[in-house]
Amino acid sequence: MIEKVRKIGIMGGTFDPIHIGHLVTAEAVRNEYSLDRVLFIPAANPPHKKDQHVTPAIHRYIMTAMATYSNPFFHVSSIEMDRPGPSYTIDTIYELRKRYGTQTEIYFITGADAIQEIPTWDRIEELLGICHFIAATRPGCVPSVDNIKEHFGELGEQKIHRLNTPELEISSTDIRERIKKGYSIKYIVPESVENYIIKEGLYL
Ligand code: ATP
Repeated sequence: MIEKVRKIGIMGGTFDPIHIGHLVTAEAVRNEYSLDRVLFIPAANPPHKKDQHVTPAIHRYIMTAMATYSNPFFHVSSIEMDRPGPSYTIDTIYELRKRYGTQTEIYFITGADAIQEIPTWDRIEELLGICHFIAATRPGCVPSVDNIKEHFGELGEQKIHRLNTPELEISSTDIRERIKKGYSIKYIVPESVENYIIKEGLYL
């Protein structure tokens, strides 16, 4: 156990690249749930994106570090990059419980789209036993979080929560397409991330 943190938020994602939709969502959840910190964890080998080209993890990690730098509550972890093989959330959460202790409550933050996918996640019922899920509203995501809560019955009722957050119609897919077309991404990603993308020639 390394330090006393009572409530920790986990923002998992591919972050290819990280954008203000991720940042605004994480900050809204931190505020609402009085989280002591939010750990951004770039997935090294996202199991659900294995047929897709994903930018090398080191670039995604650096961009995430740059984007979160100015918020003292935000931290970036290479925990999934340091582990070989696919990045299963359950393995990450067990590792974090070892680091922070079992007294620390873990809140896994997702968008309303990603929460729909959790029934397919590895050992999901076990995962729900050891952490909460906060599903933040995201534009264009019509299905409510209620169907997922119902899917898991009492466990879902206790552990899956919906939070209305500022809705920003932004996705990494859209940002990658904008760059390919030569469109601006100013204000959609932090300036440091925009400069890094230009310097490294990413997404061209
Ligand atoms: P892509 O377009 O490449 O699929 P993405 O923009 O959905 O990427 P991810 O890194 O896959 O970004 O998302 C990580 C987490 O952040 C997911 O839980 C996702 O639902 C959430 N998220 C992403 N964009 C937003 C947004 N604009 N508002 C709320 N949540 C978001």
